[in-house]
Amino acid sequence: MQNGTVRGYFRDIWQTVYSILVGMRISLKYCFAKTVTLQYPDMAPALQPRYRGFHFFEIEKCIACDLCAKACPVDCIYIEKTGPRKIDKATGVAAGGAMTRYAIDYSKCMFCALCVDPCPTECIHMGNLHDLSGYDRESMIVEFTDLAVEGLQTPQPLWMQRDNLPEWARQRKEDWVEFRQSDDKLSGKNEVRREKMQAAMVASVPSKKK
Ligand code: SF4
Ligand code: SF4
Repeated sequence: MQNGTVRGYFRDIWQTVYSILVGMRISLKYCFAKTVTLQYPDMAPALQPRYRGFHFFEIEKCIACDLCAKACPVDCIYIEKTGPRKIDKATGVAAGGAMTRYAIDYSKCMFCALCVDPCPTECIHMGNLHDLSGYDRESMIVEFTDLAVEGLQTPQPLWMQRDNLPEWARQRKEDWVEFRQSDDKLSGKNEVRREKMQAAMVASVPSKKK
């Protein structure tokens, strides 16, 4: 056996042993680390600031340009419209045309946020709702146009309809109700109000089924 080959043989052995040791060191660290169990739902879940949850949608600024739907890798954004919409620069609200449907199928959405970046009016955001649920695939499709007619910008989690909530959830429910009834806190411009959104959507979607 030549020298170079022998050196390579032992180098391969060393690299194998070394990579096992590195892996074992990481595993052992977690073996002896303190386990953390969050007693959800009695305790609030610890969501990170950049958590990507169910979308928060400012539908009154949406011009139905389809850019978000085209960017979506799983084609789970459904947009239907009767004409072009434009942003009214004075109010920051979309006008003209009619958006008859904006829906997201959450049985397909993978919360990648690729729909957020191309939006020219910055009206679709990843929200912090993490706990929506449903009983069938149909209920996984959130109809944002129907929500807007009701004055809502995000779907309401089922648990919010319950009376006996733990303290953190009660606080979150209050924030949610207050948020949807208040000014546009997300963008910081106190100009788009729930009533304005509601009026605009009812006017542009006169024959919604719900
Ligand atoms: S988060 Fe990703 S998968 Fe979900 S709607 Fe947006 S682009 Fe599509
Ligand atoms: S990219 Fe923005 S403005 Fe265009 S359809 Fe999507 S949400 Fe609406």
